[in-house]
Amino acid sequence: MKYVPEPFKIKTVEPIRMTTKEYRQKAIKEAGFNTFLLRSEDVFIDLLTDSGTSAMSDAQWAALQMGDEAYAGSRNFYDLEDTIRDVYGYKYFVPTHQGRAAEHIMSKLLIKPGDFVPGNMYFTTTRLHQEMAGGKFVDVITDEAHDPDNPHPFKGNVDLNKMQKLVDEVGADKIPYISYETCVNMAGGQPISIGNLRELRKFCDKYDIPIMLDNTRTVENAYFIQKREKGYAGKSIKEIVREICSYTDGCTCSAKKDGLVNIGGFLAMNDEEFFINAKAQVVIYEGLHTYGGMTGRDMAALAQGIRESVANDDYIRYRVEQTNYLGEVLTDAGIPHVTPHGGHAIFLDAKKFLPHIDQEQFPAQALASAIYVETGVRAMERGNVSAGRNQETGQNFKPKLELVRLTIPRRVYTQSHLDYAAEGIINLYKNKNEIKGLKFVFEPKVLRFFQARFEPA
Ligand SMILES: *Cc1c(COP(=O)(O)O)cnc(C)c1O
Repeated sequence: MKYVPEPFKIKTVEPIRMTTKEYRQKAIKEAGFNTFLLRSEDVFIDLLTDSGTSAMSDAQWAALQMGDEAYAGSRNFYDLEDTIRDVYGYKYFVPTHQGRAAEHIMSKLLIKPGDFVPGNMYFTTTRLHQEMAGGKFVDVITDEAHDPDNPHPFKGNVDLNKMQKLVDEVGADKIPYISYETCVNMAGGQPISIGNLRELRKFCDKYDIPIMLDNTRTVENAYFIQKREKGYAGKSIKEIVREICSYTDGCTCSAKKDGLVNIGGFLAMNDEEFFINAKAQVVIYEGLHTYGGMTGRDMAALAQGIRESVANDDYIRYRVEQTNYLGEVLTDAGIPHVTPHGGHAIFLDAKKFLPHIDQEQFPAQALASAIYVETGVRAMERGNVSAGRNQETGQNFKPKLELVRLTIPRRVYTQSHLDYAAEGIINLYKNKNEIKGLKFVFEPKVLRFFQARFEPA
């Protein structure tokens, strides 16, 4: 079990506060047993998400001072454009305030009511925007992805037989594009292989179906390809990222992850007509196409962040191996979790952790609450609450994967923070029978996991 040393040293610190168990019991009750509703001040180690929680580098902080806040034609826009062309290779882009705004614009422009949008599993906001545009999401990920113990090295891959079945059933003209995600978040951060993407490209060329990449974690995925896929050990992360993007027609991107910034995103594409239409939409929902949802300084920090993410291979090796380290400590203690370990998070298997709690009493939600009370560590539910209800039947989706996500912010925590979190979870596992299920006291209609409130069942 090796810990890759941080390829940086600490220049600024932010104090964090330890609380008592009694304090946390009160805090989680006030938060309706939903970790999203806790105050961050009441959290000791925050593993809720890796979204927008990265530590910026000195060069990024310096870039903030170089913001050109012109309404139109900011030099930071052109710098970001050059960077996106250099790193990802797409011809055109519009900046947005975060990933979901790019998803909104793309879904509105490409999906017609009655269309089907295949994807290698779904992401919460991505699927919702597809549905709001009148589309229906169809899961075409490999079966292995739904099995938390299957050791397949690329569980994010698309099953081409499922694609063929969909084309045969609904016809290619009802499929506006396939949404292809790198390091599939909801599957546990599982990567795709270049081999799979190449085959998908061939398939999609045959039926004239564009591939739109969810580019949020492509750099992390590139590391897995370098480590696991034949023929890629000698290639740089930058080359692999570029190759992944080269098989796709455009992307949505939440820059709050790989991009190493606290806010930002973009929609990129090679098709000029799509670009012209996207510029018309971004000005309605976000802002003029040369700033979209970002300030000049935000774009400056993002351009620098994208460059840093691929500047050398050390950063991403440390980043993914740090996540792996937490997983290895939990493996050694026999704590059930998704394997192989993903790039950005370790996903506890709540069904196995709490076999005495029925899925309709939200074991993952209960486990996330219990972890907070035990340790002061904040995690996130990714199971029956996140999956929502089937709109036709009103039933909970009851996904196969009932997970608690321990997400690692980039460049923020050290080995001892991870050791502390692991130790607390291992202790909790010994007393797991005391953890009780939950029931809704408030259930929002959409993206319910953000605002829902619970009480013990
Ligand atoms: C975070 C995320 C999004 C949404 O991006 P936001 O910046 O949070 O709006 C989309 N897809 C994936 C895979 C993500 O992880």
